[in-house]
Amino acid sequence: MSTLRAKRSKVWDHFEIQPKPGTNNAIAVCKICKNKYAYKTGGQGGGTGTLKKHLVKVHKLDPNTLQPLGREHTQQQINSLTLKNFTITKEISRRAIVKFAITCEQPFLIAEQEGFVEFTSTIQPGFHNISRHTLKKYCFEMLHEYKEALLSQFQVSLVELV
Ligand SMILES: [Zn+2]
Repeated sequence: MSTLRAKRSKVWDHFEIQPKPGTNNAIAVCKICKNKYAYKTGGQGGGTGTLKKHLVKVHKLDPNTLQPLGREHTQQQINSLTLKNFTITKEISRRAIVKFAITCEQPFLIAEQEGFVEFTSTIQPGFHNISRHTLKKYCFEMLHEYKEALLSQFQVSLVELV
């Protein structure tokens, strides 16, 4: 199968392939930022060039290994004691992006904008970018969290009044 043969490329560590029904083409979805690219499955050298370029340019992966570049991190760790043990988690990324979207009045789509994804990956290569649907979900979850917190605050105040 041609898709199996194509899967040997290292780009498939970071891309997921989805068939495009009724055509000989497929869609390659970036696992990091969920950006979609057209991908031709049948012969002719495949279409991994564009995908590789995306990984190197947007996510700053090493062009040879397609793994994250470690040098900048090491320099940061030497320069700053506070950064030494700092690991960016999905939770930290999530809260940052939700707060950004709400306080800067950004549409959910901002999460998938190439410029935004490039920006977050540049200032923090470990940043976990999400899709607009996930951002929307998280915004509503956070809204709910705040609502619950406010409600329990009011209940405490009421008890104190009585
Ligand atoms: Zn990507």
